[in-house]
Amino acid sequence: MDPLDEPLAALLGPATGKALSKALGLATVGDLLHHYPRRYAERGELTDLAALQIDEYVTVMARVERVEKRHMKNRKGSILDVVVTDGVGRLSLTWFNQPWHLKKLTVGRVGLFSGKVGAYRGTRQLANADYQLMADTAADDAGDHAGEGGVGPLGEVDLSAELDAVAEFTGTLIPVYPATAAIPTWKIARCVGMVLDTLGQPPDPLPSDVRGRQGLIGLHEALMGIHRPSTREEVEQARDRLRFDEAFVLQAVLAGRRAAIDARPAVPRPGRADRLLAGFDARLPFTLTEGQVQVCEQIATDLLRGHPMHRLLQGEVGSGKTVVAVRAMLTVVDSGGQAALLAPTEVLAQQHHRSITELLGPLAGRGMLGGADGGTQVVLLTGSTPAAARRKALLDIISGDAGIIIGTHALLEDVVQYHDLGLLVVDEQHRFGVEQRSALTERGEVSPHVLVMTATPIPRTVAMTVFGDLEVSVLRELPKGRSSISTHVVPSAQKPHFMERTWQRVREEVEAGHQAYVVCPRIGEASSPDDAVAPDDAVAPDDAVASDVSRAVDELAADGSETTARRPPVAVLDVLPMLVEGPLAGLRVEMLHGRMKPDEKDSVMREFAAGGIDVLVATTVIEVGVDVANATVMVVMDADRFGVSQLHQLRGRVGRGTAPGLCLLVTDAPGEGPARTRLDAVAATLDGFELSRLDLMQRREGDVLGAEQSGRRSSLRLLSVLRDEQVIAAARDEAITIIAADPSLAEHSALEAALGRATADEAARFIDKT
Ligand code: ADP
Ligand code: MG
Repeated sequence: MDPLDEPLAALLGPATGKALSKALGLATVGDLLHHYPRRYAERGELTDLAALQIDEYVTVMARVERVEKRHMKNRKGSILDVVVTDGVGRLSLTWFNQPWHLKKLTVGRVGLFSGKVGAYRGTRQLANADYQLMADTAADDAGDHAGEGGVGPLGEVDLSAELDAVAEFTGTLIPVYPATAAIPTWKIARCVGMVLDTLGQPPDPLPSDVRGRQGLIGLHEALMGIHRPSTREEVEQARDRLRFDEAFVLQAVLAGRRAAIDARPAVPRPGRADRLLAGFDARLPFTLTEGQVQVCEQIATDLLRGHPMHRLLQGEVGSGKTVVAVRAMLTVVDSGGQAALLAPTEVLAQQHHRSITELLGPLAGRGMLGGADGGTQVVLLTGSTPAAARRKALLDIISGDAGIIIGTHALLEDVVQYHDLGLLVVDEQHRFGVEQRSALTERGEVSPHVLVMTATPIPRTVAMTVFGDLEVSVLRELPKGRSSISTHVVPSAQKPHFMERTWQRVREEVEAGHQAYVVCPRIGEASSPDDAVAPDDAVAPDDAVASDVSRAVDELAADGSETTARRPPVAVLDVLPMLVEGPLAGLRVEMLHGRMKPDEKDSVMREFAAGGIDVLVATTVIEVGVDVANATVMVVMDADRFGVSQLHQLRGRVGRGTAPGLCLLVTDAPGEGPARTRLDAVAATLDGFELSRLDLMQRREGDVLGAEQSGRRSSLRLLSVLRDEQVIAAARDEAITIIAADPSLAEHSALEAALGRATADEAARFIDKT
């Protein structure tokens, strides 16, 4: 066994093992050694006490300034009052009936003190303080308790023992670990020390030639350097090496996954001249943009190969990804296969079905009266497809009569048997997980080609990390003739008349023959504030929160603490009557939200698309993909409750035709503050890539890598997927080279072990979701 995989309990004893796992989630030697110090306290340099925040669990280096033992007035027993200082500020520590501290906490001694910062009568206090004194005075009593810690691989480490001046603190840099009240930093240091002492040379996952090329130190040296440094340079070298490891292991996982996909067979789908694709192109009412042409060519080349395509199409909202996907699907149908289009919501699946059927015209009618010769059938299958229609759809799918199959998660069920699935298109990929993709791609011996699409732009390094197993195509330009969208923040609290003006603008647009959306964060009425989360399709939540990068990011952004104490967000069920009876009286106003029945939703959407509804009051059920060119105004109520990417998506619902789009972000958030800054940023640019960069830059790494991480350990401790672009790129090149030369890692057993650990880990759990 790789020594890093050894359970801590075996080495440190069951009680310590349990404590480490409970308090910090550390189970193995590797876990503990990768629990890096947060910072290093310098001997002789005291912690700035002024910076401490109330309620935080902290570890500070301070000097004992005053010690006083008092007897309690009304009861038996004593109080020990100790004041520690950094030379300027002060903290008080109090113990009841524990007079023995008096012996150790003599005035002038320096130590680490930890606990939760509280306030008592205007002075700051450490509640239930725990401490560890430094071995730097002549009066050192180290040795008094020799053996108390039960040192040794076979004995139990007694974490409750008070240890003085332990070996871990003999250097000038004292590691301060992320700790909890249950296990203060010096006890972690102690465990780390014991593990390091017994470790020997762990196998290094980085081959020596890679280390040489990248100028990195060995693993053992790095672990010593990060846990027991004598200089800052040692810390930096150790961090460089361990940071590279994080990038390298992730990239190796992705490279391995990509190699595995590449090794699977797929049927080449060259298409055929003069068939559906040609007919489709001839019918297309516009010319493709240069970007669309390019991506279509890339895809056509991929489809010629005997191995599955695995491509991500990232395109700005409204850049015309659907046409690209339809052309790929028709290439496959022309080659005798079937193509499936997976949409995240029922509303979107229905819309795709409508628009694709329309674009195909008579070509979409095999087996139907009036259908063109050589046409194909386009079927829709969602969770709410009625039984009879569903039976028919299933038959058409298995017989191969249906060339194009559009639907929600229902497409992935085992009962859906494809005649010859040649291509799977996943629209708005960020709403799905990889399990869904693999449900179809790993069914048989032969894999379909896969095209995933997303309009949630992510920076290049994040793409390299989270979509590293996909080839990436980008559509940046919008089709010509697209009019621009102007965005304004409407501060409803500060300027109430702006609100009137908002509704007046909606009216003007409707009078000019256009349509509008009004989006609210909540449905309303039903009990809880999270009633926006309503079940739609059994497995395809509409406005339910999906687990994905942008979502997680958005949620965090929208859920900023500044909003928590405020009134509940505006609701569809309240706004609708308010508008109908007030500012929009006389207009045709309808609503759309996730609690409505699927067929109701469909008929509202149809009517809106057909122009029979002027104003649609909706939840984020219309966030992605909805395409009604005549809609020109998007009013977002309580816009500060949405994240940047969500707002950008919502705004993308207007300005899709030739008339200019207008997006009004209504908020009563204060004029200064993060919420307004976010909205102003959205109003200031239409570049989704720029926005996502801004958005991501403001958050912590764990948030970037995923929804799953809240409260849990991230496997990325030193690596920043936003800032460490060079490290990631270098690691990626090295990983690809190694995997190409040694796909089974037979020659790289330490790397194989590291990959095994990583895939059992959070980051990989996340990778598996993409
Ligand atoms: P998205 O990339 O956001 O999914 P869509 O595929 O829904 O965008 O396209 C948005 C609209 O633009 C659709 O109505 C589509 O028909 C239209 N469109 C796509 N490509 C072009 C083009 N080259 N020229 C003009 N309009 C286009
Ligand atoms: Mg789309």
